[in-house]
Amino acid sequence: MSAVAGGRAPDGATRVAAVIGDPVRHSLSPVLHNAAFAATGLDWVYVAFEVAAGGAAGALDAVRVLGIEGLSVTMPHKADVARGVDRCSPVAARLGAVNCVVRRGGELLGENTDGAGFVASLREDAGFEPAGQRCLVLGAGGAARAVVLALAEAGAREVAVVNRTAARAESAAALAGDVGVVRGPEAVEEAALIVNATPLGMAGSGAEGVNGPVEAHRIGPGQTVADLVYHPLRTGLLELAEARGAAQVNGLGMLIHQAGLAFELWTGEHPPIEAMRVAVMGRLGYDSGSPRSTNDGAAR
Ligand code: NAP
Repeated sequence: MSAVAGGRAPDGATRVAAVIGDPVRHSLSPVLHNAAFAATGLDWVYVAFEVAAGGAAGALDAVRVLGIEGLSVTMPHKADVARGVDRCSPVAARLGAVNCVVRRGGELLGENTDGAGFVASLREDAGFEPAGQRCLVLGAGGAARAVVLALAEAGAREVAVVNRTAARAESAAALAGDVGVVRGPEAVEEAALIVNATPLGMAGSGAEGVNGPVEAHRIGPGQTVADLVYHPLRTGLLELAEARGAAQVNGLGMLIHQAGLAFELWTGEHPPIEAMRVAVMGRLGYDSGSPRSTNDGAAR
């Protein structure tokens, strides 16, 4: 069954949104957005376009010419799209990466909703408020950078970056300004929030069940552990957090909320987060009745 164009077959009035990337056929964005359009009754449809590296400028020309209303951007195009749009939001400009393109008048505006989506998931799934807290991010790639900036903007007292490659750690920590700092794995112990923004623990990564640089004795009650990896939903790191009495947040909330924020930018409508959650849980083969965080044993 396909949930396109508000449950109707697309016609001449249907608006089109899309994702570009390579690879893109596995993308969950069409599942999330078509579920959102169906739930809100909007006559929109969302499709995936496989665009090879170097093709972002041509894809943006196509968006302009074809009148595509909203564009999601994934690997390897986020930096190229940041350079190719007419204007970037302050967050996208600081990250040098765009995950979402919005039409504003005759212009294409580049946005990045990853960090705001993460903070929204922390608040909604675990009731965690970053303001005044010591936060620690493992990794310094694209996802980590978005999270570091968003935590700083949400008022974190410290945003520590722990990463294998020191130069990338410095660059990511700099995004947090005065509260950004490069630390070692021992800093995990002092953090209220620990975020895994590396692929360690991801199914098929060869590092399933791995905790990265997190030593078990440094995790305990009163801490919140978030894993951006969402496949599996319960990673080795989250299992460790549960065993040590820390709260856990899986990566699905960030995925859903970053898409929800894009939906809102494109349509002006409030995103139907629960419908999006049910659709993506179903696609990933999880019970859609599972709780939002893994604190009470989701998707075991
Ligand atoms: P990326 O740009 O490739 O960055 C990966 C980071 O992980 C780098 O800092 C890298 O360290 C580190 N890393 C990789 N392998 C490692 C290893 N074996 N040991 C230690 N560190 C390692 O990737 P990304 O786009 O930021 O994505 C990171 C993860 O977040 C992925 O699992 C992705 O699926 C997930 N993610 C989830 C969402 C969501 O919505 N939930 C959104 C975006 C990304 P170096 O700097 O030393 O290379």
